Amino acid sequence: MRTRRGLVAVMAVTALTLTACGGGDAEEPAEGDTDTGGTSEESPAEGGDDAAAGELPEGSTMAELSEAGSITIGTKFDQPLFGLVGPDGVPEGFDVEIGKLLAERLGIEEDGIEWVETISANREAFIENGQVDLVIATYTINDDRKERIDFAGPYYEAGQSILTLADNEDIQGPDDLAGKRVCTVSGSTPEANLLENFPDTEVVPFGAYNECLEPLRNGQVDAVSTDNVILAGFAAENDDLEVRGEPFTKEPYGIGLAKGDDELRTWINDQLEEMYEDGSWTEAWESTAGAVLPTPEPPAVDRY
Ligand code: GLU
Repeated sequence: MRTRRGLVAVMAVTALTLTACGGGDAEEPAEGDTDTGGTSEESPAEGGDDAAAGELPEGSTMAELSEAGSITIGTKFDQPLFGLVGPDGVPEGFDVEIGKLLAERLGIEEDGIEWVETISANREAFIENGQVDLVIATYTINDDRKERIDFAGPYYEAGQSILTLADNEDIQGPDDLAGKRVCTVSGSTPEANLLENFPDTEVVPFGAYNECLEPLRNGQVDAVSTDNVILAGFAAENDDLEVRGEPFTKEPYGIGLAKGDDELRTWINDQLEEMYEDGSWTEAWESTAGAVLPTPEPPAVDRY
C-alpha cells in the first residue's frame, strides 16, 4: 500500500539518485546537495518540510502552504463530535482530525494550523475572501455552493434529522413538523429544506446550532433540525434531549476550497482515498464521533 509518507521518502531518495546520475529533468540542484549524504545531523523538521515541498508541484497551493509551514482552516466551534472548542481554546472533533491529517501530509506541524470559526452562513464568503485556505465544517456539497467555491470529498455522509426534548411525545419524525416551530441555522441546507418543503412549519433561524438549545428548553421552539450527527452530539451531552426518526435528506460533507483550484481539489481527494486505505480516516472517526456513533464506510470521493 502506498502512503504519502512512503511516497515522499521514495521521491526524496529518487531526487538524490537522479542528481548523482545527472538524469533529472529539473534544473541542476544546488551543489551542496552532494554533501548531505555524509552529514548525520540533519534537522528532522527541516528534512520533512523539504521532502514534502519537493514532492508537491511547484507553484501549487499545496507547495505554498507546505513552504509556509502554516494553513488556515475554518471549522465549527460549537458542534460536539465534529468541531467543538474545548477549554484550551482548540477545536476538537472529526472535522478537526481530517484537517490535521491534511496538514500533516503537507508537512505542516499541528501548531502551524490556524483554526478559524466558520458558521453555516459565512463559509463560502470566508473561502472567497481568502480568510481561510480550507473549510472543514459539516459542510454539505451542493450545486448552489459550487457556484462560488469547490469541494473535495465527500469524506462523510450525514442526513437531516430532528431533535426534541426527551419528554416531547408529539414529534417522532418529519411528518409531525406541520404547525410546529423549528429552530435551525441561517445559511444551512436544513434551513433551505424546511423553507422549501415544509410550508406549514415555522422556521426559526439562529446563527449557530448551540443557540437553538435554550429556545428549545424554554418552549420558544418545539424542535431543532439539522444533520443527524450534529444532533447526536447535542443529545449525547444533554440527557434532556433526544434525536427523533430517521435522517430524511442526504448531506455529503465536503472540504471547501477556492473555486478553480483543481490541483488542490485533486490532491485532497487523493489524500482522502489514502486515508481510507491506510486506516487514518477510521482512526480519526473512532477517536471523535465514534465515541457516540458507529463507524461508517467512507463514501467514494466525487471527482466532478
Ligand atoms: N450540513 C449542513 C450544511 O452544510 C448543515 C450543517 C451545518 O450547517 O453546518 O448546511
